[in-house]
Amino acid sequence: MKTNKLISKSLVLLAFLSTNCHEEKLAPSGELDYLTTTSLQLPFAEEWYVVWGGRTLAENYHASISNQRFAIDVVQFENGSTFLGDGSKNEDYHCFGKPLEAPADGQVVALLNSVADNKPGETNKNELFGNYIIIDHGNDEFSVLAHFKQNSISVNIGEFVNQGDNLGQTGNSGNSTEPHLHYHLQNKPSIGQGEGLPAQFRNYYADNVFEVLGEPRQNETVRKG
Ligand SMILES: [Zn+2]
Repeated sequence: MKTNKLISKSLVLLAFLSTNCHEEKLAPSGELDYLTTTSLQLPFAEEWYVVWGGRTLAENYHASISNQRFAIDVVQFENGSTFLGDGSKNEDYHCFGKPLEAPADGQVVALLNSVADNKPGETNKNELFGNYIIIDHGNDEFSVLAHFKQNSISVNIGEFVNQGDNLGQTGNSGNSTEPHLHYHLQNKPSIGQGEGLPAQFRNYYADNVFEVLGEPRQNETVRKG
């Protein structure tokens, strides 16, 4: 089980190293003590595994990128693997096509829905986030969900969504070597802009321990409470 999880982690890392190898330092942040204003819940049903998440570069490669400073990447494991079969096609992966949900109420302010999904192991360096949605929660807090499956996004720009509403499906578009969800909170409404903000989620389980408020960290298995 451990081996497969390590393989999965290195796959996602590979995509990052190939495009960002010049900036492997912790991004400075004035937001380390920030407390999320919005009441966030995990944006998915079922159990997911945190491949990257946390405050240090060792546990979270995103921490070198200012707007993704506190991002998480999550996948689904079953029987120790993220896929069935040989993993050569997206449909082999447990999380591919799984529904993604609004983490809180807000207005959709940006999205992209047309980027083709990658073949596993390959990446798209022209559209790093692939298909994505940005939700304005007010209070200068914006959720970014990325790498949706092509044409799966079911909301429109300007639309108001409620917490838990379906947004689309997990995919493998953008800077992604296998299907996964990327999530982060930032203080600007545009993709790749602004400062990343710590995102504390409410009422979830991390390795079967109930968390009233917490930030998912690398190697945790998480699900909504
Ligand atoms: Zn990511």
